[in-house]
Amino acid sequence: MSIQQKIEGLRNELREHNYNYYILDNPTISDYDFDIQLKELQGLEAAHPEFYDANSPSLRVGGEVTKNFNTVVHEHRMYSLDNSYSKEDLLDWEKRIKKMIDGEVGYTCELKYDGASISLTYENGSLLRAVTRGDGTQGDDVTANIKTIKSVPLKLKGNFPKKFDIRGEIVLPFEGFNKMNEERLDIGEEPYRNPRNTASGSLKLQDSAEVARRPLECLLYNITGSNLGFDTQFESLEKARQMGFKVPNASKLVTSVDEVLEFVEYWDVHRHDLPYETDGVVIKVNDLQQQEELGFTSKAPRWAMAFKFKAEQVSTRLNEITYQVGRTGAITPVANLEPVELAGTTVKRASLHNADQIEKLDIREGDEVFVEKGGEIIPKIIAVDLSKRPVNSKPTQYITHCPECDTELERTEGDAKHYCPNYNGCSVQIIGRIQHYISRKAMDIEGLGGETVALLVNEGLISNYSDLYTLTKEDVLPLERMAEKSAENLVNGIEASKQIPFERVLFAIGIRFVGETVAKKLAKHYKSIDALANATIEDLVSVDEIGGRIAESVVDFFSSEANKLNLKKLRTVGVQMEISAEKLANQTDLLKGLSIVVSGVFETVSRNELKKMIEDNGGKVSSSISSKTSYLVAGDKMGPSKLAKAETLGVAIISEQEFLEKLK
Ligand code: AMP
Ligand code: ZN
Repeated sequence: MSIQQKIEGLRNELREHNYNYYILDNPTISDYDFDIQLKELQGLEAAHPEFYDANSPSLRVGGEVTKNFNTVVHEHRMYSLDNSYSKEDLLDWEKRIKKMIDGEVGYTCELKYDGASISLTYENGSLLRAVTRGDGTQGDDVTANIKTIKSVPLKLKGNFPKKFDIRGEIVLPFEGFNKMNEERLDIGEEPYRNPRNTASGSLKLQDSAEVARRPLECLLYNITGSNLGFDTQFESLEKARQMGFKVPNASKLVTSVDEVLEFVEYWDVHRHDLPYETDGVVIKVNDLQQQEELGFTSKAPRWAMAFKFKAEQVSTRLNEITYQVGRTGAITPVANLEPVELAGTTVKRASLHNADQIEKLDIREGDEVFVEKGGEIIPKIIAVDLSKRPVNSKPTQYITHCPECDTELERTEGDAKHYCPNYNGCSVQIIGRIQHYISRKAMDIEGLGGETVALLVNEGLISNYSDLYTLTKEDVLPLERMAEKSAENLVNGIEASKQIPFERVLFAIGIRFVGETVAKKLAKHYKSIDALANATIEDLVSVDEIGGRIAESVVDFFSSEANKLNLKKLRTVGVQMEISAEKLANQTDLLKGLSIVVSGVFETVSRNELKKMIEDNGGKVSSSISSKTSYLVAGDKMGPSKLAKAETLGVAIISEQEFLEKLK
C-alpha cells in the first residue's frame, strides 16, 4: 500500500467513525482507538504535506486562527421567516397561498432550532465554505471554525448534487452547555447565559481550536441550488440525511392547518425532552414547484411560516433582592420571588447577574416582574410590569459592603461584577475554597460534605484546606449529626487524600482560571509545585495553551504569603506536591521514534494499559501494520491476517514479556 493510499484509508475510516458517532449516535470504536488513528493520520500528513486535503478529518481539532473574517456574498439570499402566533394567523396564511396556487397544498412541519444560522456550500461532495447569515445578503466566512464541528460532514456520502448550499442552525445542546458552565464555575468564571448566544458567539471565535472544544452541533433544514434531484421539502430532508447531514427526525408531512396545530401542540410539550433548544415550529409548503410559484417578499419566503411557541413566561412579585458571595468573592444579586409555576417547575428565585442588569431594567423590590425560562438552569427576569409598580417604590440601592464580612466591595474597570476583597477573612469565600478542595474532581474526600465544611469553618475548627489534615475524631465528634462512624470516615477520607496525584492537588488548591485541564498541563510541564511557584509570566506563557490571564493568576497566587503558608502545611502533612516518582519513572524516551502495533489479548496488563505504556515511554501506537511498524506486540488470539502481514513485511514480532523487558 502506498503512503497516499494509507492516508486516504485512515481518512475514510475516521470519517466513518465520526459519522457513526455524531450523526447516528452509535459509536463503533472507543475514543481511545479513535485518537490513536487520528494521531497516526496526523503523523503521516505532517511527514507528507504533498497529500494535504483541506477536508481531512485531522483538521477537526482546529488550530487555524482567524483575525478578520472575510465577507462573502450569499449566492442564494438567506431570508428571515414570517411569524404567526395563532390559528387565525395560519388560516390567513393558507388563504394567501390558495389565492396564488390552484389545487392541493401539502406542508412539512419542522422544529425551529434556536441557535445561529449557517449556510454551507458543497462542491463535488466536499465542504467548500461556511458563511454566517449576516444581513441575509452577505455574511462572514467562518469555514475554519465550522470544520471543527463534528456533525458537519467535510465529505458527503452517496450521490450528491454537483454544487449546492445547505442551511442549518448551529446549536449547543443543553448537556454540553451545562458542562461548559460547570467548568467555568470551577475556575471561578461567570457562567454563560444561554446556549443560543454561546453558540453564535462560538462561530466568531478567532481560535478554531477553542471552537473544537465546544460541543456544538449543526442541524440542517434546507437545500438550495439547481438540479437537486428531489421535488419536495420532505424528500430534501431525507436526501440531506443520506448525504451524511444531521437532520432531526421530528419533521412531519401534513395537509391542513388543524394538523399543523396538532404538531405544534405536541412539540410544545415534548420539546422539553429534546437535547437542544427550540423556539417554535416552521411550516413549509412541501412542493418545491409550488414554492417557486409563491416566491419571496422582500424579507421572507411566502411558502414558509414560523409558529413561535408561547414564551415560557410568567409574571410574579419580586419580594426581595439578596446577595450571594461566591468562592472567588464575586457578588451575585438574586431575586427572591413569590413562588410561581413555570415550564413544569416551581420558581422561587431568579438571577439578576449584576448591578448593571438591575439598573438597566430598573428592577425594584415589590415590583411585579416577568420571568422567563430559556436554556439556562436559573430563570431570569426580563422586564418589570411598570403598570403595577407600587407608588412608594424606590430605586434599588446596590450593596456597597459584603453581606458576609462587611468589607467594602470592589469593582474593577471593565468587570460587571462587584467583589469582596477579603480573601482570607470572608467566611463564605473560605468555605467555598475548602468545598472546592474536597470536591469529587479535586481531592475527592469521602466522608466529608459541603455542609460539614461550613460547620467546621463556622465552629472555628478550620480556616483553610490545609487545616483539614490536623483534624481529629475528637475535634469533629461534637458537631451536629456527627456519629462515631461518620467521624471516623471523615478522618480516614482526609488521610486518603494524601495519595491524590499532584495534578489534582494543583486543581484543588483553587488558583483562579486553573481548571482540570490546565492543572494537568501545568503538572506535566513543571512536575512540582516549587518549579511552578518559581515560574515567571514569560515562562508560563511559553507553555502550550497557557495564556497571559492564566499566567498572571498563577504568579499572583504564589506571591501571597497566606497561600505559601498553606502549601507549606500541605507539604508537611504529606499531600502530593510533585509528580510521583513512579509516574516520572514510567515516563521515558525508551521507545522514542518507534511505531508499535498491539494485537490480541494479554496476560499481565490490559491492552489499553499496554498502549498507555507505549505512549508514556515515547512510542507511538499504531492500529495497522505497515513497513514503518517497528514492533508487533503479539498477545493471545491475535488476528491471523495481522500476523501474516507482519511476517511478509518482516516486522519484528515480540511477546508481552519481551515488550515489558524493553522497558526495564
Ligand atoms: P427568525 O430569526 O425568528 O427570523 O427566524 C428565522 C430563522 O429561523 C432562520 O434564519 C433559521 O436560522 C432559523 N430556523 C431554525 N429552524 C429552522 C427550520 N427548521 N427551517 C427554517 N429556518 C429555521
Ligand atoms: Zn466578604
